[in-house]
Amino acid sequence: MKLTDKLEILADAAKYDASCASSGAPKRSSIGKDGIGATSGMGICHSYTPDGRCVSLLKILLTNFCIYDCQYCVNRRSSDVPRARFAVNEVVRLTTDFYLRNYIDGLFLSSGIIRSADYTMEQLVEVARQLRETHHFRGYIHLKTIPDADPALLEAAGRYADRLSVNIELPTEASIAHLAPEKSIHTIKLAMGAIRTKLDQKAEEPKAPKFAPAGQSTQLIVGADASDDKTILDTAETLYGSYKLKRVYYSAFSPIPQSPKSVPLQPPPMMREHRLYQADFLMRGYGFQASELMPAAGNLALDIDPKLAWALAHREHFPLDLNRAEANMIARVPGIGLRNAKRLVELRRLRAIRYVDLTRLRCSMKKIAPFIVTVDYRPRQDGASSELLRRAMAEAPSQQMALWPALQAA
Ligand code: SF4
Repeated sequence: MKLTDKLEILADAAKYDASCASSGAPKRSSIGKDGIGATSGMGICHSYTPDGRCVSLLKILLTNFCIYDCQYCVNRRSSDVPRARFAVNEVVRLTTDFYLRNYIDGLFLSSGIIRSADYTMEQLVEVARQLRETHHFRGYIHLKTIPDADPALLEAAGRYADRLSVNIELPTEASIAHLAPEKSIHTIKLAMGAIRTKLDQKAEEPKAPKFAPAGQSTQLIVGADASDDKTILDTAETLYGSYKLKRVYYSAFSPIPQSPKSVPLQPPPMMREHRLYQADFLMRGYGFQASELMPAAGNLALDIDPKLAWALAHREHFPLDLNRAEANMIARVPGIGLRNAKRLVELRRLRAIRYVDLTRLRCSMKKIAPFIVTVDYRPRQDGASSELLRRAMAEAPSQQMALWPALQAA
């Protein structure tokens, strides 16, 4: 098989691994039409390095052969898809060639399991080793690790890779037992724990050998099982706390041809994945607890974002006086991000905050107006119900404008 044919199969097979931000964008393509670009391509993805740079990564599988039969996975052994396998030196060559042509800044390498967990992991580590030691490759490397592999291989992987990830895929033990019975939540958590221990050791002993400086991450598939967003967010929160994960990625389940009956025929709404990313960001950056965003069983609202949903459910905190409130509460106002919350706190040390200051900071005025008080502004729609506000915020912009006078009169 030609290298380009392998690349086509193994880059396509890797697209289900979410290594970057939400894929909630609408599907567009210029193929056969005017213009250039597409939102649905695969092969090169983007990720963020520890210093905040956005880098392009060659995103491929070493192979899509797999001895496991996880029901939600296109690469499961019972799946009737074209198969391919790269040799180690082929991945190394592709990475260095693409890097030298400036196509990519690094490599994201995952794999189906061939022969055994150890054998597969050895191959993944060997790619990273050759890149680092033979080619002195200084680009970014993200390696997916095989949970059952020998801890010595995990340690070697951390020596060469910037980031390691162990995919948990499903949020509950019962779902893993049902849809991926050859996997074990216990083994997955042991692997995550081993990575965390190595990361802690490195943090405590700066002279210890290098180990995955960009930390570890994992992926949860959304909509392959019946787990709701509350379960998913609770699991993510536990994983962040227990294993110091840098990121949890959420990947909307994609039904595949000849899917088994155990998984849904329809994908979940892409907006669900997007809302989970927003909620996740609120937990990591804004100090929200999963239980605040999802106090009861169910899914996040699709029509409004999770911060707005929280604010509408907690009107007792609003309208918030921006000249008196704590910085962390200002950041909880819908339409005010962390950076603007900080700027407002700095500004009020000099003078009182006025309404126009918020427009100058380019805050989303329609969103924040019902929730704030400044020295010269207090919302007239104080008494507007959360339901009315929700409709105003959730509708299309033209309808939003039409509703505004009603809110002002309320
Ligand atoms: S082990 Fe990974 S590649 Fe293999 S079937 Fe399961 S999810 Fe797919």
